[in-house]
Amino acid sequence: MKYIFVTGGVVSSLGKGLAAASLGTLLEHRGQKVILQKFDPYLNIDPGTMNPYEHGEVYVLDDGAETDLDLGHYERFTSTNLSRLNNLTSGQVYQSVLKKERDGDYLGGTVQVIPHVTNEIKERIRKVAREMPGDIIITEIGGTVGDIEGLPFLEAIRQFAQDVGPENVLFIHTTLIIYMRAAGELKTKPTQQSIAKLREIGISPGIILCRTELPLDHDVKDKISLFCNVSPDAVIEARDVKNSIYEVPLKLHEEKLDDLVCKLLNIQAPQPDLTRWRQFVQRVINPIQHVRIGVVGKYIELQDAYKSIYEALVHAGASHDTKIDIVKVDSEHIEKEGAARHLAGMQGILVPGGFGDRGIEGKIAACRYAREQRIPYFGICLGMQIAIIEFARNVCKLEAANSTEFDKTTPHPVVSLLEEQRHVTTVGGSMRLGSWVTDLVAGTKAFELYHSATITERHRHRYEFNAAYKTQMEESGLVISGMSPDGLLAEMIELRDHPFFVACQFHPEFLSKPNHPHQIFHGFVKAALQQHTKK
Ligand code: GLN
Repeated sequence: MKYIFVTGGVVSSLGKGLAAASLGTLLEHRGQKVILQKFDPYLNIDPGTMNPYEHGEVYVLDDGAETDLDLGHYERFTSTNLSRLNNLTSGQVYQSVLKKERDGDYLGGTVQVIPHVTNEIKERIRKVAREMPGDIIITEIGGTVGDIEGLPFLEAIRQFAQDVGPENVLFIHTTLIIYMRAAGELKTKPTQQSIAKLREIGISPGIILCRTELPLDHDVKDKISLFCNVSPDAVIEARDVKNSIYEVPLKLHEEKLDDLVCKLLNIQAPQPDLTRWRQFVQRVINPIQHVRIGVVGKYIELQDAYKSIYEALVHAGASHDTKIDIVKVDSEHIEKEGAARHLAGMQGILVPGGFGDRGIEGKIAACRYAREQRIPYFGICLGMQIAIIEFARNVCKLEAANSTEFDKTTPHPVVSLLEEQRHVTTVGGSMRLGSWVTDLVAGTKAFELYHSATITERHRHRYEFNAAYKTQMEESGLVISGMSPDGLLAEMIELRDHPFFVACQFHPEFLSKPNHPHQIFHGFVKAALQQHTKK
């Protein structure tokens, strides 16, 4: 087993996750079995309890782990199926160490960061190596070198390299080369200093990945090479890509990153065949048509809050040679100014997942607009609950129908707490999470989209369609197209007399991949394109 550790310096948001994922893609295309994982230095056990402003999207795995959104990049860029072992936080490390202390496992010793915390981190890496067999584990260390909270992780990976032999370990440092417009120059000093900081801890990066707006000329590369103790060909230019994040692996391949990694780790692997990846990128950057999709949410200004949904739209768009013009609509603006003002001209409307009552009425108005104007509608999780509320209020005439999440005293709780959630008192990791099977009903749109009678999708919710209203809603024309195998939970709904009105209680966006767009996204974009033709 070979180990690659990716650190970051100078600033945050350098795209370390994308760099790690892209390297994963390249090595996988060279026939290597790659596992990716992330270490996050914050004290939360997982990001599940953080709000999107703090953290962006919470990415959910098959086993129900709520993880950092970088794991989404890892799964989209490679074929690895990750588990809760692959996202370690300081919170988990300390939780485990403190439990061992209470259990008396340290036999009266003083419990310290070194060795107890660092051992815990190293043991996790070994556990992943044992339980997820592969050729290479790529570990991204969250945060920026120099952060106090990241130190135990850096110390642990330094020790780890000694334990398994430095020839089996490669440190890649991602950094920012700053362009000073006034001086017309690329500045390498912050990079030199962040590498000095790493070397102070005992880590010498073998490769320096330089994020830069402008090309790095020889002088700059030589300077970094000289000051940072690597050969000039180990100074890799990672210039901002213009069109699509999926270009990153191709650019890094041109820069010979994968060759260098194989050389430094002594991996014998054939050159990658990137034809299909290239074709995908071509379809993304040279579309033959456009489609306008309105995404109605409450964290709409945050690029990261609906990350996987935006990516799934890109994948589905590419499969139709279509650029998706995503129009981000704040549901509170719809509340103030009406749906038509913000949604007229959309060829499709998507309401994503969410929590809490802010902006809910705007989402309901958006859903009503899609239903009445016969615009393709795609509701995900909360977006399905919204569709149920809207249908109950405006078609079944159940006035003030609502979810008990937003109105505890509604006369018509058409969406209510899952039975298993009624006694849950803790917030963290306690929703209905991870992969669950859904049985699809033959003859429905859902069945047609999936070509299958059973599907498995990832979930993250506490509320559900209240079965007490099922018959009444069905009699008014709502179709329940997917149910949990025990027949208790509605997992998918749709409308018959509508070009495309499909909603699901699960999160299909987590399973979409570049060359395998998710079936519902694929069908939704297709319907939106037909809407265009009709207009
Ligand atoms: N807030 C809703 C629930 O808990 C929807 C969750 C979601 O959209 N992920 O059921």
